[in-house]
Amino acid sequence: MSNQDRPLLLEVHNLRTYFFLDEGTVRAVDGADFVVYRGQTLGVVGESGCGKSVTARSILRIVPPPGRIVEGKILYHRVSKNGGSQVAETIDLTALDPRGREIRRIRGAEISMVFQEPMTSLSPVHTIGNQIMEAIMLHQNVTKEEAREKAIEMLDRVGMPQPQRTVDRYPHQLSGGMRQRAMIAMALSCHPALLIADEPTTALDVTTEAQILKLMRELQRDLGMAIMFITHNLGVIAQMTEDVIVMYLGKVVEATDVDTLFYNPKHPYTQALLRSIPRVGRKSRERLHVIPGWVPDPYSVPEGCPFHPRCDQVIRGVCEEVEPPYVEVEPGHQVRCHLYAR
Ligand code: SF4
Repeated sequence: MSNQDRPLLLEVHNLRTYFFLDEGTVRAVDGADFVVYRGQTLGVVGESGCGKSVTARSILRIVPPPGRIVEGKILYHRVSKNGGSQVAETIDLTALDPRGREIRRIRGAEISMVFQEPMTSLSPVHTIGNQIMEAIMLHQNVTKEEAREKAIEMLDRVGMPQPQRTVDRYPHQLSGGMRQRAMIAMALSCHPALLIADEPTTALDVTTEAQILKLMRELQRDLGMAIMFITHNLGVIAQMTEDVIVMYLGKVVEATDVDTLFYNPKHPYTQALLRSIPRVGRKSRERLHVIPGWVPDPYSVPEGCPFHPRCDQVIRGVCEEVEPPYVEVEPGHQVRCHLYAR
């Protein structure tokens, strides 16, 4: 289905989330713009420190202090049922109290998140079942017995062996892959409209990673939710997503569909990222490209285009001084680079 046929789910406009530290201000997200449609899988890619995870945490309003959203809007388009009719409303998540009732109603039920390390969201002192049941009972009007049934159903759905028994296990009694399945079961227990998956398979071995990715594809297809898939791994992007945004130092520098990203990337940073991944068919003696330099110190982001010290296509006298505009180079393909500014 093309995105034009899908209703909007989330709009992020000019999001800025800064961390105010003694050493200075870190602009972790510095003017991010993108949209997520219902049922879409959107990849968010970039090196460590480019603002992917802070963007996700800003959406859920769980940015840890001393970080805070200083500007921008995150519009969540909710569709709920009231009797026989559907009610549509738009909520600006940036305007909500991060500890208030409304965001707690959304978090975990309408928008959920799975993390790289399951122990970030699983409590070591409670059984898997109790934790899933708690999530269900917080958001749904069900009895304890019904919640337990739903928890077992969900564990079964995510391929947990012997769900009737696993439900009473503690996280430390499970393998890394099983813990990740339990976290996915918890995140999906209330059928969210959007699942944010932040590097969910990075800590797993390749076989378990392949199983978890397959599971997430199946769940996405069956439950129809949108997924925002955050990763630094372009192989995962190719397998999992339909559309991609590339982030560099807190900004979205390229946004397009996944095929265009791989076959016709425009931004020099995206091109460099793609040259740096090993490919089947590449001559064995051919050297892998390394992006020169490193992501700059977050306290002193370069003027103009922040990628200019590492860019092999830099326009001297322009890129070091003027911030590039975000332009549409073809329908549905945006790039933030002076090479494409008209
Ligand atoms: Fe390179 Fe200039 Fe484009 Fe930045 S704006 S990516 S420095 S060409």
